[in-house]
Amino acid sequence: MFEFNIKDVKEDRKLIICLRKIFSKKREETFILPKKGESVILLFSGGLDSVALFNYLCSVYEAIVYPIYVRSNLFDNAQFKSAKFFVNFFKRKYKKLVKDLTVVNQSFNFSFSSLTNLNRKFIKLLLNNLVKLNNSDEYLPIIISNPARLGFYGFIAYEYLLKIRYHNNASIKTILVGIVPEDRILRESNISVLLSINLTFCEILNDYSIQFYAPIDKKVNFFLQKEVLVKKAIQDCVPLYKSFSCVKNVWFHCGKCFNCLSRKKIFSILNYNDKTYYLSNSRFYNKTIKLLRCILKKNH
Ligand SMILES: [Zn+2]
Repeated sequence: MFEFNIKDVKEDRKLIICLRKIFSKKREETFILPKKGESVILLFSGGLDSVALFNYLCSVYEAIVYPIYVRSNLFDNAQFKSAKFFVNFFKRKYKKLVKDLTVVNQSFNFSFSSLTNLNRKFIKLLLNNLVKLNNSDEYLPIIISNPARLGFYGFIAYEYLLKIRYHNNASIKTILVGIVPEDRILRESNISVLLSINLTFCEILNDYSIQFYAPIDKKVNFFLQKEVLVKKAIQDCVPLYKSFSCVKNVWFHCGKCFNCLSRKKIFSILNYNDKTYYLSNSRFYNKTIKLLRCILKKNH
């Protein structure tokens, strides 16, 4: 059975201590929690965690949320549809707390998703931020489409923050991203990476009031595990099954990737009536895949 556990997280503690020291000198705290009614930018993917965090920000912190979606496909895939659906949903639910969805196009020149299994053998030579999970399925190590994407997203969000400051809200200073503590086993989603990205922008802009973070840090009292976020969203009647989490497929949940597995797991822990359609549960899909594999074997 697939397990995700924050005990698997291995961070560079010395680096984190150095980064915390820099921030404590420059702005007293590594991260200052937004006060009730404060505005925040949310990098919003339409995935389960970002939907649950969006809800938590409005429901518990009563934050004014400016959602931004980074679009790397020109067509309306399931993730983009989810993002649009939930912004409208939260606008109805939380009224003035939710601002319009801003969409920014960002194309990538190279995606690891397009590689064949043969090429995957060489990925270790190209990348040094892979993670091998215990008890997972055949998708080892975890490959995400664009392993440095968080840096791109961060840049885009900082630019958006300056735009909001200029046009209508000079005091906005916080950018959040829907990463949960369990994700910290992925290198792009750990404390040192988020603080490093934040540090880069603070230095470029010479403005240490700007924060870029996720609820993954116990030391600053901003620590929300997936279960807490998802549970709150369920209590608040957010239709979470309409979110889209898969990183292997753009239309349906594959049911096998890291995101699909952790989605299934958390829904099962919380006894949530998961109406998500998973390809791995489809008899027709599994038969077709088997048939295709046989044909490919014969042709070899
Ligand atoms: Zn998937």
